[in-house]
Amino acid sequence: IWRDFMGINIEKIEANVKKYLDEKRYEHVKRVVKCAEELAQIYSVDIEKTKASALLHDVAKFFELSTMQELIKGKYPEVKDENSTAILHGFAGAEFIRKNYELFEIDDEEILDGVKYHTIGSKNMSKLAKIVYLADAIEEGRTWGGVEMARELSKIDLDGALKYEIDTKLIYLISKDTIIHPNIILFRNALISERK
Ligand code: FE
Ligand code: FE
Repeated sequence: IWRDFMGINIEKIEANVKKYLDEKRYEHVKRVVKCAEELAQIYSVDIEKTKASALLHDVAKFFELSTMQELIKGKYPEVKDENSTAILHGFAGAEFIRKNYELFEIDDEEILDGVKYHTIGSKNMSKLAKIVYLADAIEEGRTWGGVEMARELSKIDLDGALKYEIDTKLIYLISKDTIIHPNIILFRNALISERK
């Protein structure tokens, strides 16, 4: 249909995303966009699509848990019984964007996947979705131990940087004796088997 030829309206997405975030979170989003754009350049991924996905990734960050659960109802068995907004805001964000086409004019599944999987990853992630996930973790404002190493790796080895981020996260989660979502492991396994 003809709307495929209209391209992505970044200004419109920006203006509408802003309405759902506070200033601090929007600053984070801008840093993710900047980082994702650089990575898209390095790894030859569509820049406009990557920017749109990065810009939208946290759109549902401040939604109520019940709103998130309502948005994803009947979809995504992997988070069916999930009640962590930290995990759900990606999946809920993708469905919110899909349902409100008039706000963002985005229905591209690759762009939506970047939003959907930025919290816990997944197997079978596209390069675009991997970039959004990584940019969220290593944008200039992030300070976790190892982030400099991940940034260096990100310039030469996308999957290597992702695996480094996941490994660091897993070690932290284990040290905290916290529940680990299986998608993180599936994501890590996919990175390893794609490499072979
Ligand atoms: Fe997020
Ligand atoms: Fe984020």
